[in-house]
Amino acid sequence: SPFEYAPAPESRSVVDIAPSYGLFIDGEFTEAADGKVFKTVSPSTEEVLSEVAQASSEDVDRAVKAARKAFEKWSALPGAERAKYLFRIARIIQERSRELAVLETLDNGKPIKETRDADLPLVAAHFFYYAGWADKLDHAGYGPNPAPLGVAGQVIPWNFPLLMLAWKIAPALATGNTVVLKPAETTPLSALFFADICRQAGLPRGVVNILPGYGDAGAALTAHPDVNKVAFTGSTAVGKAIARQVAGTDKKVTLELGGKGANIVFDDAPIDQAVEGIVTGIFFNQGQVCCAGSRLLVQESIQEELLDSLKRRLSTLRLGDPLDKNTDIGAINSAEQLARISALAETGEAEGAERWSPACELPTSGYWFAPTLFTNVTQAHTIARDEIFGPVLSVLSFRTPDEAVAKANNTQYGLSAGIWTEKGSRILAVANRLRAGVVWANTFNKFDPTSPFGGYKESGFGREGGRHGLEAYLDV
Ligand code: NAD
Repeated sequence: SPFEYAPAPESRSVVDIAPSYGLFIDGEFTEAADGKVFKTVSPSTEEVLSEVAQASSEDVDRAVKAARKAFEKWSALPGAERAKYLFRIARIIQERSRELAVLETLDNGKPIKETRDADLPLVAAHFFYYAGWADKLDHAGYGPNPAPLGVAGQVIPWNFPLLMLAWKIAPALATGNTVVLKPAETTPLSALFFADICRQAGLPRGVVNILPGYGDAGAALTAHPDVNKVAFTGSTAVGKAIARQVAGTDKKVTLELGGKGANIVFDDAPIDQAVEGIVTGIFFNQGQVCCAGSRLLVQESIQEELLDSLKRRLSTLRLGDPLDKNTDIGAINSAEQLARISALAETGEAEGAERWSPACELPTSGYWFAPTLFTNVTQAHTIARDEIFGPVLSVLSFRTPDEAVAKANNTQYGLSAGIWTEKGSRILAVANRLRAGVVWANTFNKFDPTSPFGGYKESGFGREGGRHGLEAYLDV
């Protein structure tokens, strides 16, 4: 069947992409009920990678029914038995991580260096971590026998396709829930590969169902009356629409939304280290990161020195083929996202900020945006307020810690922030006043499955990761 995914032979280092993929429902790859398909393309070349079945509300209904049926048995398994499946999945992810890294890079456009060294190790770590919880829920501080919620409807974005899947699926399964997950329309492939891993691990049918498709399928899933828990990562606009839709139902909901993180550099910061952190903060994954350090707040007395070093460092970044191990900056995920980034960067110039990019040649096909720095930015500028979700850094300055805190908090969002200083006392004092779910000190964009992650304000609610991440899938 063309909808059968053929795993690549063990000896191959490059992934085999099937010409077409089905939806994964009740342990089988299947066509969409209405036969619709869509194409997924490589953002770095615009080549069609594969044709993928496109879920509609009818398919959502089929998948939710399968998940409901599977829930009865899955939730009744002892935690230690569920743990075995999760450990097996984690091990297979490690074994097949080269294939997965290549696939993710092809479909998403991000550098292979990142998928290989960041995404894939974190994905496996997440499954290992929650596998460890599955038989210890009685000791998680919730009292004996905390109950799973039922069927989880999960909708994820395209920026970390497999990692966002891991953040959603691992805690849901560990706690005894079953899952219907919709990956983003531009990055369905690694989720379908994961479906194949579920089969390889012998996961019972219906426990995990994967429905590639567009926003309409996402909306049908989050609205489905037999879904007990909605977990969404994506834009604040869609998150708000989901919150409205879920209001008045008995569904539980967690939302991980946008951000406008501040990276605050004090005058006693180790400059070279701070420059690396600023670069990681905004250029990792081409800045398409919800917790990106997209606003640089630098103390006035070191602004000139810091910007000189930063520009020198940006001039060394290599932009190009995401499959090249030396590439630092890959492609933007889609033409739509590129247009969004370009339009926001243009407002920067129109509103009077100064634009700078290192000399770099952009490939002629694919979706590319050069690393960009804006100086002379004020808090009123659109580029200082709106999430750009691209490789664009807005630089603002401050004189005192109070001013730094006030500027950092002057945003509708509250997902992340960074502090750079030699003084431990200042780290603690400033971190406690920042209205952000995660604050890094003298580092940035570090993740660990043991740490809860999530937002204040319009960055969403609920936490994923750590013990807190279990709570989102349990009645305690
Ligand atoms: P998006 O909201 O457009 O899409 C996210 C997902 O929701 C996709 O799968 C999409 O098909 C689906 N969707 C669209 N409309 C829907 C609807 N009405 N109902 C249900 N599902 C719907 O976001 P995006 O452009 O794919 O992702 C970028 C955004 O995600 C950014 O704002 C970013 O900050 C945010 N994000 C947040 C986190 C976090 O953990 N807080 C992580 C990654 C990305």
